[in-house]
Amino acid sequence: MTGDERDAPGGLAAVFARLITATGPISIAHYMAEANARYYASRDPFGTAGDFVTAPEISQMFGELIGLWLADIWQRAGCPDGVCYVELGPGRGTLARDALRAASRAGLVPEVHFVETSPALRGLQRAAHPGAAWHDDLSTLPADRPLLLVANEFLDALPVRQLVRTAGGWRERMVGLNAAGAFIPVAGTRPMDAAVPDSFAEAGEGAIVETCPAAAAVVQEVAGRLASQGGAALFIDYGYVEPQLGSTLQAVRAHQKVNVFAEPGEADLTAHVDFGTVAQVAEQAGARWLGTSGQGAWLAALGIGARAGSLARAAPHAAEAIEAATIRLTAPAEMGTLFKVMGLAAPGWPDGAGFNRVSPATTDRDSAALP
Ligand code: SAH
Repeated sequence: MTGDERDAPGGLAAVFARLITATGPISIAHYMAEANARYYASRDPFGTAGDFVTAPEISQMFGELIGLWLADIWQRAGCPDGVCYVELGPGRGTLARDALRAASRAGLVPEVHFVETSPALRGLQRAAHPGAAWHDDLSTLPADRPLLLVANEFLDALPVRQLVRTAGGWRERMVGLNAAGAFIPVAGTRPMDAAVPDSFAEAGEGAIVETCPAAAAVVQEVAGRLASQGGAALFIDYGYVEPQLGSTLQAVRAHQKVNVFAEPGEADLTAHVDFGTVAQVAEQAGARWLGTSGQGAWLAALGIGARAGSLARAAPHAAEAIEAATIRLTAPAEMGTLFKVMGLAAPGWPDGAGFNRVSPATTDRDSAALP
């Protein structure tokens, strides 16, 4: 689809309606990919005046602790020269600003590379990081030096594929049009039984299996580069570790959940990240899986309590706001448990701070697959 088509009268909804009328239902993955491309291309969705708030926009402590984590593992790896800071989907550039400031105090001043497709957000990122280099995807990142890579709420924006169990077997979940012209989920016609993992094959009618081939592809590429170039990576997102059934696709607009199918391109579409699967993908591609922790436990282990205390002492008028931000980032009822941090590193690199590796994702998977 070209930019001109996306800007056509009626917007993306009209384009989808014409396409579905002409050729039949489109896949959930196609719908989500086009809707998010349009959504991000033209706006700054972050903050209280926007649609949603991400962790780096809640407090500088989030990016600072990530910067310190990167500097720490880089130092323990022997301070290799020429490392690059790489961020996938850097939003407003806030996380990078806080992380690079903290890292530079620890002696780490890397080249900065951003993977970002949105022209609007690239503009904001350029204002905050004039010296950075931009990439449309990972393929053009430097291939000859270690990478210190961060992706916060990036994988959740990538398109998921859904399979639904019907009376006639498994089918791809698609988007069609009802008689009133509204988008609705429908089952595809082609049998998809072969694409369903054995453990879910006998799930009841209506069951949904969700996968994210695009997220697996990104993690595979990152892991392969860590294995051949050195470095470490942090993927932070909401998600789950044990395999599960059901759709996690959701749409958010102005801080409210809205109908996924109502206005494609006008709300942020996300799906939870399957951290068990991406950890396996990373290990198969040659990276070390350092652990997957709840965001709250990880930030606590890295010392968010002490950092909050020193910020509050330096700015007593802001003490309440700092305390509120700490709770928001770490409390189990807020972002502390649903949001997870997965660490990866090159095979020869040391362990990462903040991970307690009591439950390797591979073991979780294996035990969950037992009868
Ligand atoms: N990391 C930021 C922004 C998260 S929103 C934060 O935490 O605030 C998702 C980000 O990923 C946006 O910058 C969006 O433009 C970008 N993005 C989404 N899909 C992308 C894709 N396929 N390729 C590159 N960037 C993408």
